[in-house]
Amino acid sequence: MPENFIPTDKTRVVREPQRGVYDRAAIYKILDEGFVCHVGFAVGGQPYVIPTMYARIGDALYFHGSAASRMLRNLSEGAAVCLTVSLIDGLVLARSVFNHSMNYRSVVALGTATLVDDPGEKLEALRAFTEKILPGRWQEARGPSEKEMKATSILRLPLSEVSAKVRAGGVEDDAEDYARKIWAGIIPMHLAAGAPVRDERCDPAIPLPDYLTKYTR
Ligand SMILES: Cc1cc2nc3c(=O)[nH]c(=O)nc-3n(C[C@H](O)[C@H](O)[C@H](O)COP(=O)(O)OP(=O)(O)OC[C@H]3O[C@@H](n4cnc5c(N)ncnc54)[C@H](O)[C@@H]3O)c2cc1C
Repeated sequence: MPENFIPTDKTRVVREPQRGVYDRAAIYKILDEGFVCHVGFAVGGQPYVIPTMYARIGDALYFHGSAASRMLRNLSEGAAVCLTVSLIDGLVLARSVFNHSMNYRSVVALGTATLVDDPGEKLEALRAFTEKILPGRWQEARGPSEKEMKATSILRLPLSEVSAKVRAGGVEDDAEDYARKIWAGIIPMHLAAGAPVRDERCDPAIPLPDYLTKYTR
C-alpha cells in the first residue's frame, strides 16, 4: 500500500488546505484512537448519519450491528458511504468571537461497504471490536455463540479514498485584536477513563484483571 492516500476531487480539503493530511500512518493513528464513527448514507434522497463503534484491521474499517438495522441493510446492498471520526484536542479561545475554534484531528473516508461473509474474517472483526473497547478483553470474555454470530452483521469499508484534517496550535487572531485586554488561549481537552466500577453481580472475589489495573486513557 502507498504511504499516502491520493487526494481525489472528493477528498481534497478545500478550506485551510494546509490542515489536510493524507499520510496513511497519521490517519490510522487517528482512527485507532477514536471510539465512535459517524456513518453517513442516503436512503431515498434522505441522508442519515448514524453514530456507531468501529475497528480498523489493516487497510479496512469494520463496523457492525443487528442484521435488521437500516444502516446494515442499506449499506450491505451497496449504498455509498461517508464515514467520519473526530477527536477534540482543545478549545481555542480567541480575542474575537469570529476566531474561536477547536483543535481537532478528524478523518473522512468515502467508499462502498461490503457485508463480511467469511466466518474467520467475521470473528477477527469481533475480536478487533472487543480489543478496541479494552485491550486484553477478548482473552477473558466469553466468545460469540453461533446464534450471536448469525444475529450480527459486519461491514467492511476498504480505506482507499480518505482524508484527514488537523488543527493544532494556538490562537490566531486578527492583528489589531492582539492589543485588546481579553484573556485568550487554549483549553486542552482529552478523553479520560475513570476508575473501574464493579458490576453488582460480579463476585467480589474475582480480582481486577491485570490489563484493567494497567489501563489508562
Ligand atoms: C471538531 C471540528 C469542528 C469544526 N468546526 C468548524 C466550523 O465551525 N466551521 C467550519 O466551517 N468548519 C469547521 N470544521 C471543519 C470542517 O470539518 C470542514 O473542514 C470545513 O467545513 C471546510 O470544508 P470545505 O468546504 O473546505 O471542504 P468540503 O468540500 O466540505 O470537503 C472536501 C473534502 O475535504 C475533506 N475534508 C473536509 N473537512 C474534513 C475534515 N474535517 N476532516 C477530514 N477530511 C475533511 C473530505 O474528504 C471532504 O470530502 C470543524 C472540524 C472539526 C473536526
